[in-house]
Amino acid sequence: MAKPTNLTLCSFCGKSHSEVNRLISGPGVYICDQCIELCKKIVDKELAAEAQTDIRPTNVLKPAEIFAEMNKYIIGQDSAKKSLSVGVHNHYKRVQADESPSSFDENNELRDVELEKSNLLLVGPTGSGKTLLAKTLARILDVPFCIADATTLTEAGYVGEDVESIILRLLQNADYDVDRAERGIVYIDEIDKIGRTTQNVSITRDVSGEGVQQALLKILEGATCNVPPQGGRKHPQQEYIQVKTDQILFICGGAFVGLDKIVQRRHGADAVGFNHAHENSTKIMPAEIGADQLEPEDLLQFGLIPEFIGRLPVTAVLKELTEDELVLVLTEPRNALTKQYTKLLAMDGVKLKFQKDALKALARKSIERGTGARALRSLLEELMRDLMYELPSRSDISQVTISAATVESGKSPSIKKSSRKKAA
Ligand code: ADP
Repeated sequence: MAKPTNLTLCSFCGKSHSEVNRLISGPGVYICDQCIELCKKIVDKELAAEAQTDIRPTNVLKPAEIFAEMNKYIIGQDSAKKSLSVGVHNHYKRVQADESPSSFDENNELRDVELEKSNLLLVGPTGSGKTLLAKTLARILDVPFCIADATTLTEAGYVGEDVESIILRLLQNADYDVDRAERGIVYIDEIDKIGRTTQNVSITRDVSGEGVQQALLKILEGATCNVPPQGGRKHPQQEYIQVKTDQILFICGGAFVGLDKIVQRRHGADAVGFNHAHENSTKIMPAEIGADQLEPEDLLQFGLIPEFIGRLPVTAVLKELTEDELVLVLTEPRNALTKQYTKLLAMDGVKLKFQKDALKALARKSIERGTGARALRSLLEELMRDLMYELPSRSDISQVTISAATVESGKSPSIKKSSRKKAA
């Protein structure tokens, strides 16, 4: 091996041995520590870029994996979970096909087959888990997520938020990483409130809601959005960040109150027209529409415009949660409410127990409020408030048990005192 002398030069940058810390020799060549450092940076950067493109093609989670992961957080709603798992899997497959078209199609036979974007529509009553589903999907897939409320949106030019504000929120949640934002998930709530025939007349917004649907159409089908980085209204001198929306997955959700009647009426009409003998078999009870019974024309009647419906080809219907399911919501998911309170109290050295009947009573009360699982949190919050106030200053209590009577008539929970005083 050549021995470096003061006259030996780095074959890459030309610096001499005395100008650098180390000069490593190879057969007839030398490289200095600075050039090694630089080369390493280049290689690392390329590897990182490769790894990033690799994530998409190879790591598209399978529908069954997405379903299993969702089960950890969401009770019931199996049919919706299934539709979503498939819809989301296909969406990211499409993203993969766009980014590396030759990875699965060596002979280019499928080159001209275009996979259309399929955003999702969730139909289900308040508190049945629509937002939770969308949020959980984003968490499972580790992509940025944001929630928008369709009722606050307006067409450009009206007072209110325009649709770019949604993309800005997504971008903010992705820490202004445009690449990540472009693969994110957006949940648009209250989509049923922007029907053409909505009663929600406003003087600041276009009266019908149709304009909002038109505005949303653009980002749903894929466009380049000019997002003002600071938010607010656009003005000509402003600089914009460009975000493409064709790989963003949009999940729209709404309660669609009355949609069951529309479906029912249509099925009734079918029964009269073609299937009179089996009229009863086609009857649908309120709040029990299956995704297979829901047709685009029902949504059209509800006031969504055809182009908008066309952009939401995957529909999932969520059911009202039953009493038993609400009990499971309280106890089963990873971060179930009772688990959270148990942890909070455990930090004060107190064991918290809920009797089975107490959980059922909470579920019943929640159903009475008519807001599904949403009421559970406030009910528990009310129930636990006094305890949470008192327990941190009581060192003589080791266990608290909540019974049905505590929930139903406000009876004090039963308390077990500790035999020995806990350290204060
Ligand atoms: P929606 O969007 O349908 O009105 P949300 O998803 O906002 O309802 O639900 C409100 C809260 O209720 C959630 O944060 C979650 O804690 C709970 N919840 C609702 N549905 C479920 C469910 N199926 N499984 C577990 N928790 C649920």
